[in-house]
Amino acid sequence: MQEGDWIWFDGKFVPWKEAEIHVLTHGLNYGTSIFEGIRAYETEDNSAVFRLDEHVDRFFESAVVAQLDLDVTRREVKDAIVETVAKNGLGDCYIRPIAWMSYGNLGVHAEVPVSFAVAAYPWGAYLGERVISEGAKAKIVSYIRPHPDSYPSGAKIGGSYFLSRLASNEARDEGYDEAIMLNHQGWVGEGSGENIFAVKDEVLYTPPFEANILPGITRKSLLQVGEDKGYETEEKLFKPKFLFDADEVFFCGTAVEVVGVVQIDDREVGDGTVGPITTEMRETYMDIVRGRREEYASWLTPVYETGDFPKRAVGVEVGE
Ligand code: PMP
Repeated sequence: MQEGDWIWFDGKFVPWKEAEIHVLTHGLNYGTSIFEGIRAYETEDNSAVFRLDEHVDRFFESAVVAQLDLDVTRREVKDAIVETVAKNGLGDCYIRPIAWMSYGNLGVHAEVPVSFAVAAYPWGAYLGERVISEGAKAKIVSYIRPHPDSYPSGAKIGGSYFLSRLASNEARDEGYDEAIMLNHQGWVGEGSGENIFAVKDEVLYTPPFEANILPGITRKSLLQVGEDKGYETEEKLFKPKFLFDADEVFFCGTAVEVVGVVQIDDREVGDGTVGPITTEMRETYMDIVRGRREEYASWLTPVYETGDFPKRAVGVEVGE
């Protein structure tokens, strides 16, 4: 991990190495935390956070689902995110806002204070550079998305990612790059940290929320971009065979961005190379996040005063 200099921690910046918690923190013991994964990208003369409002909205939705009583406002969270990128003088970076049940009582039911922090640091290709050019090999793993009566898939809750880790480990142990998880009814869900699309006859298909997926912000953005490009798009429940018969499959998510899936289990997808619509969607996505598509400028929140990058932060007030 490439370290940054400062972490926003309960209302102030602390040096990276001093952002520490107690071993008996509730969130550490029981996974009672919520988080977001956001990226900022260098644009021509600035750095911009991609879809800040959507990420902060989902952060607050996760808090409701996890019954975490956040002690910060939306405005404070947004400002802390932008300020953390600026304070660290970053251009391209990954941003991790996190809130967790803190210290004071280890009863599972206990009420303890909720802490909030934001870190930002450079993080390159999530599945590696090879996967960007050659595509990913994915395995349909034995772990399934959580049954909706166990806990909701739609929230980014710390403890839920133990399942993602098991799924990803199963795939990696067998030589694959990433896992594909089905839901409890056998419908295709998503990757361990990505949503999935299948392309068939130039139609873009992706599983709906009923497949127990995380409502990905990249997924939502690509559905919009696909429509704007004139492609038909459909949120549709489908079984693994639909993926095997697809012309193209791709993963999308904040960390992974857009990458082709060229093999699933022991079968090639399409002709076994990253397909043309996947490439088009990836290139358009990268253009959008880098501010090269005027029509999507509202999806970007600039970090620095124009012309001052990376010297001075926009004067956002934290603590409103
Ligand atoms: N599914 C899971 C399980 C994830 O962890 C992520 C990453 N947040 C995604 C999908 C993609 O979501 P987003 O596009 O909002 O990053």
